[in-house]
Amino acid sequence: MSLLEVSRLEAFYGASQALFGVDLALGQGELVALMGRNGMGKTTTVRAITRMLRTTRGAIRFDGRDIAGLPSFRAARLGIGLAPEGRRCFAGLTVAENLLASARPGPWSVETATALFPRLGERMGQTAATLSGGEQQMLAIARALMTNPRLLILDEATEGLAPVVRQEIWAAIARLKQGGQSILVIDKAFSELRAVADRCVILARGQSVWTGTPADLSREIETEFLGV
Ligand code: ATP
Repeated sequence: MSLLEVSRLEAFYGASQALFGVDLALGQGELVALMGRNGMGKTTTVRAITRMLRTTRGAIRFDGRDIAGLPSFRAARLGIGLAPEGRRCFAGLTVAENLLASARPGPWSVETATALFPRLGERMGQTAATLSGGEQQMLAIARALMTNPRLLILDEATEGLAPVVRQEIWAAIARLKQGGQSILVIDKAFSELRAVADRCVILARGQSVWTGTPADLSREIETEFLGV
C-alpha cells in the first residue's frame, strides 16, 4: 500500500479550476519528484495534499485513510510535513524558537536537525530574518522535520539559492532518503532531481501526464513536458 495515493485530483481557486486530474502515488521510503513547467499545478497539488487548499475533488489517501475532507492542521498531525515555497519561517523568532515551535514527539530534535544542517547550529540565537536565503531554506526543511513527518514535502527545495548551498541541500535530501524518509520534492533543477528520485511524476496543465523512473525519462518527454 502506498503511503500517499492521490487519484483524479481536481482543485479550484474560487471559480477557476487549476487541477484537472492528478494521479500520484508515493510508497513508504520513496522519493518522488513532482515535475512540470511553471504554472502546471505542482504547488496547487501540494496545497491540496496538505489541505491548505480545500476546494478539491478526487481522492487523497494518506496511509490508507481518506484525508480529502480534513483541515490542514489534521493532515499535519497525521504526519504530512511541508517546507513551503518561499520558506515562510517566523522572521522575528530565533532559529531555535522556529524549530521548537514546530516540534512534535519523535526522533527529530534540535540536535538531530542541526546535525543535518550544521550551519543552523551556529545560528541558533539569531532571528530567521537575519539568515541568508540558503540558511532560511535549511531552517524551513529542519522545521518540517521537527514535526517528525511520515511524509516530507519540499516545494522548490533549492530555488534561488547559490550553487554551494544547493549542493548542501541536495546532500541533506539524499541523507534523509537513505535514512528511510518518504519525500515528495519539487524543484527546477531537473538533473539533481533525477539523481535523487525513485520516480518522477510530470504535470502539464493541471494533469499528471507521465510517471516513471528517472532512467525512463527520455529526451522526448523532457522536451515535450519540461522544456529542457
Ligand atoms: P510554479 O513552478 O510557477 O510555482 P506550479 O506548477 O507550482 O508553478 P501552480 O502554482 O500550482 O503551478 O499553479 C497552477 C495554476 O493555478 C496556474 O494556472 C496558476 O495561475 C493558478 N493559481 C495558482 N495559485 C492561484 C491562486 N491563489 N488563485 C488563482 N489561481 C491560482
